Amino acid sequence: MSTQVACYAARAMTEAANNARVLLDRALATGRIHSAYLLSGPPETVGAEARRFARALVCTNPDERPCERCRECQRSTESAAPVELDGAGKKGPLFRHIGDHPDLYWVDRGPDGTRVRIGQIRAAQQALRLGANEGGYRVLVIADAEWLNQEAQNSLLKLLEEPPEKTALILASASSAPLAATIRSRCQKIRFPDETRFALRADDLPEDRADVLRRFDAIESAGLSQLLDWAEEYRGSRAVAAEAVEVLLEVGTGWLGERVKQDVEAGRRDVRKKLDAHRALAQCRKDLVQRNANPQMVAERALFAVRGSLAS
Ligand SMILES: [Zn+2]
Repeated sequence: MSTQVACYAARAMTEAANNARVLLDRALATGRIHSAYLLSGPPETVGAEARRFARALVCTNPDERPCERCRECQRSTESAAPVELDGAGKKGPLFRHIGDHPDLYWVDRGPDGTRVRIGQIRAAQQALRLGANEGGYRVLVIADAEWLNQEAQNSLLKLLEEPPEKTALILASASSAPLAATIRSRCQKIRFPDETRFALRADDLPEDRADVLRRFDAIESAGLSQLLDWAEEYRGSRAVAAEAVEVLLEVGTGWLGERVKQDVEAGRRDVRKKLDAHRALAQCRKDLVQRNANPQMVAERALFAVRGSLAS
């Protein structure tokens, strides 16, 4: 049974990752491209997804993007290790291209930079405005976006407020928290699950997760009104609330998995209700991410599903 639980957990993670990618693929398929995206999650994942999405935006193949066959894809292929950036511009350039594609710009904080600096953002923005345009999209990827300093964020804000035509900004960030609300609110936010954080009771849990976990630990004694109050906290700005509910769902999923495991180890055989709740949470996540469901409603459903599965 615990193998089954592990399978569920693994599937839930894969599904969440797929959901995030589905959003990007759907944008490509429909041609409804936002002027700014904020991808958050594990740095390697969001970096790779940002690169892939940028390359797909200039790919000329209508079916599969990036197709890796067309001229644009060949130009955006990074054949050798990319040149290292330097925020001060002394040891290396301030920004670079993806492959040698003239319309794809990349900024990160470099191997020993502490912040992504304003000089980098300015230089990349200027190049973006003046650079060659092959007729398709121009894309600026900012990896390590959580390291943008305040000045750099302000400078970006101008770009976000008056986005040039056929230009996309992609911020790739381990966490969206360090970014100003004015920036976050102008981006289409896409969250990739963090498998390492899926360790439910890791020592260095971020405060929001630790808080949600504490409350799940006490959920058995929570009454109806307490659950409603909890769900009501996810009211307000959809973007912010949806992000918080995603955390709720992730922690809740892990928490249920842990309970099922404990049940099985203690010889309690009937874990069916908890597995149903586990599935309900996966559905909640889908509704939230793919169907733009109301975060408060989703939170309510999720909390009731979890609480309901505990009643004997
Ligand atoms: Zn292509």
